[in-house]
Amino acid sequence: MSQFGSHGLVWSGRFDADGFRTAVRMNAEAGYDLLEVPLMDPFAFDVTAGRAALDEHGTTIAASLGLSAATDISGEDADAVAAGERLLTRAVDVISELGGEHLVGVIYGAMRKHDAPATARGRQNGIEVLRRVADHASSAGVSLALEVVNRYETNIINTARQGIAYVGEIGHANVGLHLDTYHMNIEESGLFEPFLDAADVLRYVHIGESHRGYLGTGTVDFDATFRALARIGYDGPIVFESFSTAVVDAHLSNTLGVWRNLWDDNEDLGRHALAFMRGHERAVETIALH
Ligand code: MN
Repeated sequence: MSQFGSHGLVWSGRFDADGFRTAVRMNAEAGYDLLEVPLMDPFAFDVTAGRAALDEHGTTIAASLGLSAATDISGEDADAVAAGERLLTRAVDVISELGGEHLVGVIYGAMRKHDAPATARGRQNGIEVLRRVADHASSAGVSLALEVVNRYETNIINTARQGIAYVGEIGHANVGLHLDTYHMNIEESGLFEPFLDAADVLRYVHIGESHRGYLGTGTVDFDATFRALARIGYDGPIVFESFSTAVVDAHLSNTLGVWRNLWDDNEDLGRHALAFMRGHERAVETIALH
């Protein structure tokens, strides 16, 4: 059985002490074991209150973030590269202090539409920062997983194959890959092969529909996704990610282009998604037995 989680923005648009507590409680009530908190500003996160909320509900935590232009480690602006390294280092410390093991997302560059390809110098800056952050993360018991996202959100890695090559360039045992079906549905030619290709480096999975709403109501091939995860024996976190104008974080929602109301009832959405994912996992395991 995999460890199923959900993204914090299903439950709350803010992650101060009260907002985080609400997300932890609702995530647990919907039946999830793990909550992924968007840690866009790790310096502002209340670790003490966060730890208490997690303990109360027995919830495992993971953290994700996307760097900004001001913290872009894969650019040529030395101040931004240094600021990005500080932010990632703090994010590692926060997730470690919360007892979590995964820092994921677009942690290798600015999450935004770029208007030019990454430069060789910029790429190299990012690789060098990630190696240092990965060293620090190793000593903190945290693993890094780089999320492959679509062309409108990064110019570094848009496909699993690019991600595998990039992780190879970094060449650090503590840096793996994070795949997301929403992004794969845009960039890959199928949903089965990329998971098989990435088997050796896959550390984290996002399950999202093509419109990022209710699972099973869009065009993502979840049958192929769960068959592939079973085939490679993936046993890491599987995290439901969904966004609607019903729950908004002013910064993150605008960066992701959340302009539509895909749902109003997050309790129903979250329970439906967990049943959907468990059902797919159980179905492919049953098939594999016969
Ligand atoms: Mn994602």
